[in-house]
Amino acid sequence: MSEVRNVIVIGSGPAGLTAAIYSARANLKPLVIEGLEAGGQLMLTTLVENFPGFREGIDGPDLMGAMREQAQRFGAEIVRGNVTSVDLASQPIVIKTSEGEFRTRTLIIATGASARLLGLPSERTLMGHGVSTCATCDGYFFRGKPIAVIGGGDSAMEEANFLTRFASHVTVVHRRDTLRASKIMQDKAFANPKISFEWNTEVEEIKDTGKGEVTGMVLTNSLTGERKEIAVDGVFVAIGHTPNTSLFRNQIETDANGYIVTHAGSRTSVPGVFACGDVQDHVYRQAITAAGSGCMAAIDAEKYLEGTPQHLGESTHIATLG
Ligand code: NAP
Repeated sequence: MSEVRNVIVIGSGPAGLTAAIYSARANLKPLVIEGLEAGGQLMLTTLVENFPGFREGIDGPDLMGAMREQAQRFGAEIVRGNVTSVDLASQPIVIKTSEGEFRTRTLIIATGASARLLGLPSERTLMGHGVSTCATCDGYFFRGKPIAVIGGGDSAMEEANFLTRFASHVTVVHRRDTLRASKIMQDKAFANPKISFEWNTEVEEIKDTGKGEVTGMVLTNSLTGERKEIAVDGVFVAIGHTPNTSLFRNQIETDANGYIVTHAGSRTSVPGVFACGDVQDHVYRQAITAAGSGCMAAIDAEKYLEGTPQHLGESTHIATLG
């Protein structure tokens, strides 16, 4: 039977890797299961200009590579593989992956949230090259330029309003003729002279994959079938996020949208199970806040282990017996 770990982290974005750095430095020998989307959402961006400490910015994949190496330097073990099931009711907690089974006293869930995408090939190709899912991260690159925001919810309105600080004009493209956003957010967007709307409109294609940058969009009116092209330099897809919590369904408390509920730091409804990063945060969703919450989860897990009879130094011994 596999060794019983002190800490297993599922997920390898800023939250998971920061949890790994802190728990490795606390001598807990964490194991990180990095998942299919290793490195998380920052792997989809180019320049990250708002992560403190990098005056000239740093590419998302480079930042994640550095965090990964930093975690490994302190003894975190990182395995590839995709988690197929987790049993939070067992003690130790059992995690089954494509690479085998693992057991642990504490679990840090850092599985993140995935931005919903339109599913267009051109959207995927131009992601990080004019297509973005994060206005806070990338708005600054579009100073004085026309851009579009896709979606009709609070996120889309918030992003559209925020982006008018930089962009010359923001076109909101929405698939229906009424917004889902709250009244106050709608009113704010309608009152903003830099925002206009394309109603009942679907995005057919983002141009120009040949040039490797965004130059415009082909739009179709779903009522009339009319097609037209608009010129934009950036496209912000704001059609919602999905927290990656399907593995934990019915095992842990989540809110109505599926985000894990945390209390008193990173504690969840299950003792010994902690959550950090976007899987429990639909408000801030930043690399720096995710990293901060990863630090909290590692400290909370360490405190939990200190309060349980079998911990830390005993792990190797228990592992041999196990
Ligand atoms: P959301 O409320 O689910 O809205 C998603 C929007 O994207 C909807 O307008 C939806 O269109 C559209 N959409 C979804 N899939 C699409 C597709 N495949 N193609 C085109 N359009 C698509 O998501 P959200 O705006 O991210 O908000 C999530 C939650 O966070 C909400 O509860 C929201 O109130 C909250 N939030 C609050 C604030 C705030 O209060 N400051 C800010 C952001 C988010 P339909 O309308 O046609 O379904």
